[in-house]
Amino acid sequence: MVCHPGSQMDSPNTQRMTIASESLPEKYSLEASREPLPQLIDSFGRVHESLRISVTDACNIRCRYCMPETVASFLPQHRLLSFDSIARVVSVLARSGIRKVRLTGGEPLMRPNLERLVDKLAKIPGVDQIAMTTNAMLLSDQITALESAGLTHINISLDTLREAAFKRISRRDGLDAVLRGIESAISTKLVVRLNALLMRDINLQDCIPLVEFARAKKLFIRFIEFMPLDADRQWSQDQVVSGTELRLVLESHFGPLTAIGRADPAQPSSDFVFEDGQGGVGFIDPVSQPFCQSCNRIRLTADGKLRNCLFSQEEWDLKAACESNASDHEIHSIATACIRKKYASHGISESNFKQPERAMYQIGG
Ligand code: SF4
Repeated sequence: MVCHPGSQMDSPNTQRMTIASESLPEKYSLEASREPLPQLIDSFGRVHESLRISVTDACNIRCRYCMPETVASFLPQHRLLSFDSIARVVSVLARSGIRKVRLTGGEPLMRPNLERLVDKLAKIPGVDQIAMTTNAMLLSDQITALESAGLTHINISLDTLREAAFKRISRRDGLDAVLRGIESAISTKLVVRLNALLMRDINLQDCIPLVEFARAKKLFIRFIEFMPLDADRQWSQDQVVSGTELRLVLESHFGPLTAIGRADPAQPSSDFVFEDGQGGVGFIDPVSQPFCQSCNRIRLTADGKLRNCLFSQEEWDLKAACESNASDHEIHSIATACIRKKYASHGISESNFKQPERAMYQIGG
């Protein structure tokens, strides 16, 4: 893995910046300059407006499409990007057009006081959507504080309703807690969606019960194809259930699906509604139908590395930059350097495809 240090930090000016920022409270520098910064446009003309932020690599379950069964240790607190630094990065990138933020993990609710971060992000001009992807096992205790802090959207992972299959996929108990979490989310004003990942040999049979559950709750459910990002490196093409195949299965049971337009042209999901209008279903097909041509996403890892793609083999160190009081412009130029090196696509189907060193839980989906 190539990691680019906050290169400007190594410039002879380092000393000047540090002195200057010591005398200026961080809050001042954040507020002071809201003038727009150049947009984050890559060499293919894709404009980046969505930042996915992993706030921890820790998780309370061990989904086999993401984490290893046993994890020696998760990132200690001092290796995690602080809430202030996260807010700093978002504040700078919001000046260059980032308007959607998604909090991920590991399991984001494993990071204590997450509502404090949501509160900081909700105060940043230009950010109009604060979303979170969670396994919901800790949600019912935290949802009220997160909603009042400014959370707007929540995606909840639910791959099966069968206890045994849940245990087989996540290698832990906890289905009841997930279902309680979903109920707590439904009782809020948040936009709630379900995410399901199917692996052919484990939970393909769950697709119809999952859709029935979503329809009963008037929720949208999106099926995400299994990607080569699992820590155990067991991924294989034949385990992938494509959206096309799944749509046929669902239409044979629920009748024809009607496509609905993309609310956001860069959204990875192809969405459909049922004839009776009860709920909806979407397909996110990065393997069988890559959507990289309209990708507007960049990622910040829990240890402060900026990645221009889920499958990137390179990273840019923003933690070092934030912790050495880099200026907003220096943070922006690191992000610009990162975006400029973005590939056209993930290359999963290419012969020279190389699975990233980081697994999904270390990137944040
Ligand atoms: S694989 Fe990379 S380029 Fe493609 S959509 Fe995902 S993040 Fe974007």
